[in-house]
Amino acid sequence: MTQDTDLSHIPWHTLSAEQAASQFEVDPTQGLSAAQAEDRRTRFGPNELIDRGVKSPWLILLDQFKETMVIVLIIAAVISGLLGEVKDTIAILVIVILNAALGFTQEYRAEQAMAALKKMATPRVKVRRGGEVQHADATSLVPGDVILLEAGDSVPADARVIEAANLRVQEAALTGESTAVDKVVDFRADTHAAIGDRHNMVYMGTAVTMGRGSAIVVDTGMRTELGNIAEMIQTVESGPTPLQRRMAAMGRSLAIVALVIVAIVIGLGLLRGEDLGDLVLTGVAMAVAVVPEGLPAVVTIALALGAQRMLKRRALIRKLPAVETLGSVTVICSDKTGTLTENRMTVVVLDVAEQRATMEEVMRDRQPALRAADPPKEPISATQALVLAGSTLCNDAIIREDKEATGDFSTVGDPTEAALVVAAARFGLWKDDLDKTFPRLAEVPFTSERKLMTTVHKVPIHTDSLVVNPYIRQMLEAEEMPYLVVTKGAVDQLLEVSDRVWVNDRFVPLDVEWRERVRSANEGLAREGLRVLGVALRPLKELVPESSAGDAEEGSAYEKDLAIVGMVGMMDPPRAEVKDAVHTAKTAGIRPMMITGDHPLTAMRIAQDLGIVDRGLSAADSPGAPSSSQPAAAPPASTHDRVITGQELTRMTDDDLYQAVSEVSVFARVAPEHKLRIVEALQRRGEIAAMTGDGVNDAPALRKADIGVAMGITGTDVSKEASDMVILDDNFASIVSAVEEGRTIYDNVRKFIRYTLTSNAGEIIVMLAAPFIGMPIPLTALQILWVNLVTDGLPGLALGVEPAERNIMRRPPYPPNQSVFARGMAPAILFIGLLMGIVSLGVGYWAWRQGNPAWVTMVFMTLTLSQMGNALAIRSERDSLFTIGLLSNRAMLGAVLLTFVLQLAITYIPFLQPIFRTQALTAGELAISLGASTIVFIVSEIWKAFLRRR
Ligand code: ADP
Ligand code: MG
Repeated sequence: MTQDTDLSHIPWHTLSAEQAASQFEVDPTQGLSAAQAEDRRTRFGPNELIDRGVKSPWLILLDQFKETMVIVLIIAAVISGLLGEVKDTIAILVIVILNAALGFTQEYRAEQAMAALKKMATPRVKVRRGGEVQHADATSLVPGDVILLEAGDSVPADARVIEAANLRVQEAALTGESTAVDKVVDFRADTHAAIGDRHNMVYMGTAVTMGRGSAIVVDTGMRTELGNIAEMIQTVESGPTPLQRRMAAMGRSLAIVALVIVAIVIGLGLLRGEDLGDLVLTGVAMAVAVVPEGLPAVVTIALALGAQRMLKRRALIRKLPAVETLGSVTVICSDKTGTLTENRMTVVVLDVAEQRATMEEVMRDRQPALRAADPPKEPISATQALVLAGSTLCNDAIIREDKEATGDFSTVGDPTEAALVVAAARFGLWKDDLDKTFPRLAEVPFTSERKLMTTVHKVPIHTDSLVVNPYIRQMLEAEEMPYLVVTKGAVDQLLEVSDRVWVNDRFVPLDVEWRERVRSANEGLAREGLRVLGVALRPLKELVPESSAGDAEEGSAYEKDLAIVGMVGMMDPPRAEVKDAVHTAKTAGIRPMMITGDHPLTAMRIAQDLGIVDRGLSAADSPGAPSSSQPAAAPPASTHDRVITGQELTRMTDDDLYQAVSEVSVFARVAPEHKLRIVEALQRRGEIAAMTGDGVNDAPALRKADIGVAMGITGTDVSKEASDMVILDDNFASIVSAVEEGRTIYDNVRKFIRYTLTSNAGEIIVMLAAPFIGMPIPLTALQILWVNLVTDGLPGLALGVEPAERNIMRRPPYPPNQSVFARGMAPAILFIGLLMGIVSLGVGYWAWRQGNPAWVTMVFMTLTLSQMGNALAIRSERDSLFTIGLLSNRAMLGAVLLTFVLQLAITYIPFLQPIFRTQALTAGELAISLGASTIVFIVSEIWKAFLRRR
C-alpha cells in the first residue's frame, strides 16, 4: 500500500474479496507482516473511538465549585467582606479552596480508576499476522489486518468478509435490525446498498452470533461506520447507584431540616439582640454542618476506588452499582467448566464397543509420538484410531508441536477440542495431516443447545499416507461413498440421532441392548466426574445442498442415521482454590449453584468434590472405602443432592421451578436459555443472584441477573458487554473475593455516613443547646466550617480504606433494600452525637461559669478531639479498637494525628488566633479538653462491648 493511496472513498462492499486483499497488499493466508502493521499504525492511528466520556481535570476542578454548599460559602465570604470582616472572608475562601483541593484529588483519583477500568475492558481479537494467528488488543488493528471471527465476538473494525462458515452477525447497533444477518464471501453489493444489505461486510460494534469466518479490516477507529455515527458508546457505565440516589435523597431532606435550624438560631439570636450579620454567617455555617453535601461524592469515590481494589483481586467492574449489589449477593450460579474447574482437559479414557482403555494403558510401553519419529509401530485398535481421527477432524483447535520436540504440544482453541487433538497426536494422528487428507466441505458448528458438532469431509480413494486410512477406507469403499459425516458431542444427544454402532469394523444396528450398553458406558465415565464426548460417523453418497443443510439452531440434515464409534472421557480437574471459596461462600450465607451443559452424573460428582452439595453418606466418605471409580451405591436421598436437567427444566412450570431452586443446587445438561429461567425463579424468591456466562446466548441471563459475571479469558465479547463484572481469571474464587470486597466497601460507606452524621449531630447540639442554658453561641461560623470541612474530612476519607471486618464472610448478606441506617445506626448516631455535644458544651459551660475567656477555644478543642475518638471507635462495628489494632489502618492514624496537629496550630500560632477566634490554652485547659473528649471514645467502646455480648 503506497503512501498516497487514498482508501477512504473505496466502496469496499462492491469489491470481491481478492480485490480487497490486493488493495491492502495482504495475503489473506499470511496476514500483514509486523513491519506493515507497525507502519500502518503510525499512519492510521489506533483503532479506537474518541472517548468523550472521560472528564478532563479542568472539568473536575470546575465541578468542585458548582456544589451548592460551596456557592453558599462563597456568598458567606462576600457577606463577611461587606460587613468589613476581611479576615473572615479570606479564611472562608481558604477553607473553600482546601475543600475543593481535597474534593478534586479524590474525584480525580476516582476518575483515573474508572478510566483504567475502561481500558481493561477493551476487547481482544484474533488477528493473523506474519502467518501466525495471534491475540491482540482491538485497538492495535490497522487496515489490511486479517481478523478471525467466531460466535460471540464483537466485530472490532469495519471489514470485508473473506471466509465464512455459517457466519451470522447481529447489526442492531448500526441498523436497528434485531434479527441477525448472514454474511457470505461471494457477494458484491451495489454501491448504494444500505449497511444492512452489505452481506460481504462486517462492521465495528456489531456482534457475531453464530459460525465463524475471517475478514480483512478496511476501516478503523473514527473512520468506521460506528465512528461516523457514534458520539460515544461507553464501555463502563456509571449512572447513579442506589446508594448514591439514597444519599442524594437524604441530602434533600436534611436541607429542609437545615432551614428550620437556621431559622431557630437566627430567631433566638435576634431575640437576644445579637448582630444580624453575625447571625446570618452562623446560620450559613450551621446549614453547612447539617447537610452532608459530601456524601454522594464520597459514595462515588468509595465505589470507584473499591472497584480498583477489586481489580487487584481479578474482578473488573463494568457497572459501578455492581460494587454495592455484590455485598448483598445470596446465590452464585456458576458454570462448571472453566469456572469451577481448570478448563485444562485431558483425555483419560477411550471407550469403544469392544474395549475400554485408559490412556495410560494405551500409552504404556509406547514412546510419545513425535512428529519427526515414525508413526507408532503397533497401531492402536482400528476403532480407537477412528474415534481419535473423527474427533480431530470434527474440530477447530490448532495444535503445534513444541520446538524442542519433547512430546509436548501447545494448542489454541476450545480446551475440549484441544484435548482431543492432543490425544490423537499422541498416536501420530496429526490434525493437519488429517485435514489435508480429508478436506472439510461443510460444517455445523457446536452449540450448547444441540451439544453436537458436525463436519463433512471428502474421502480420498487413493492414499496410504495415513495411519487410520486403511480402516476408514475399508468402511467407505465397501459402501462406495465419497463423503464422510463426522459428528461429535454429548453421548445422550448422539444416541438420538444414531441408528448404528461401529463394532469390529462393521456396522451393527443400534438395538435396545446396544443403546443400553452405550448409555451405561457413558454414565460410568460421567460418574467418575469425567466429561464425556461421543463420536459418530456416517458415510455419505452426496452432499446436502446448502439451503436444506439446516443450521446450527435447528440441527442439521447431516445429523441423522449416524453410527456411534465410541467415546472419550476427559478429565478437567477442579480449580485448587475453589473448594475453599465454596466453603467461604457458604459460611457467608451465600449458596453456590452449578449450572453446566455436562452430564448430570459428571456435574454431581464435581459438585460433591467441591462441597457444593453434601456428599451424603456415599461410600467414598467412609474410611477404607473402595476406590471412588467404583460405581457408587444408590445415593442417599438428601434434599441437596438432586440434579435437575435441562430436559426436566423444560417440562417444569415456573411454579415448579420456584420450588425447585430453593433446594437444588446442580443443574446439568442445560442450555443457555434455561439460565434465564433459573435467574428469574431465584429472583422471585427474593434472592440476589450472581450468574456467570461466557457464550453469546448467555447474554440475556447475564443482563437479568443482579450481578452478571462474564469470563475474562474464555468469555465472548457479547457476554462481557452484557455483564456487570468480568472475572479476569475465570475463577469462581474471584467472584467470592469480589463479594467480600463489596461487603467491605458497603460497610465502609456505612461507617463514613455514620461518622459524618454523628459529627454533624454533635456540632448542631452544641450550637442549639447553648442558648437554652443561657450561654452565648459557642462556636463562630468559621470554627464550624473548620470542624465540618477539615477535621471531619480527613478521618472520614481514611474510613474509606478501612480493611474488612473480621466476620465479614461469616455473617449473612444484608438485604439490598435494607436502609443504610439499619441495624442500630440511627440510634447510635443520635446517642453518640448527643454525647459529643453534651461533653463539649459541658466543658465550655464549666469554663464559662468561671468567667474563663478561653471557654470558646475549649469547646472547639473538645469537639474536634471527640470526633477523633469517634473516628477511631467507628472503625469497627463490633470489635474494639484494640482487637483490630491501631496500626491496621495507618491512613486513619495519620489523619487523626494530622488533624490534631492542625487543631493545635490554629490554637497556638499567633497570627491564626484572631482568624479562628482562638486563644492559647494552658496545659491544664488542654488536658481537660483532651480528657473530656475521651469520654466519647470510651462510651463507644463500651457500646460495642455490649453489642458483642448480645
Ligand atoms: P459446559 O461448558 O457447561 O461444561 P458445554 O455446553 O460446553 O457445557 O458442553 C456440554 C456437552 O457438550 C459436553 O458434555 C460435551 O459432551 C459436549 N461438547 C462440549 N464441547 C463440545 C464441542 N466442541 N464439540 C462437540 N461437543 C461438545
Ligand atoms: Mg462450554
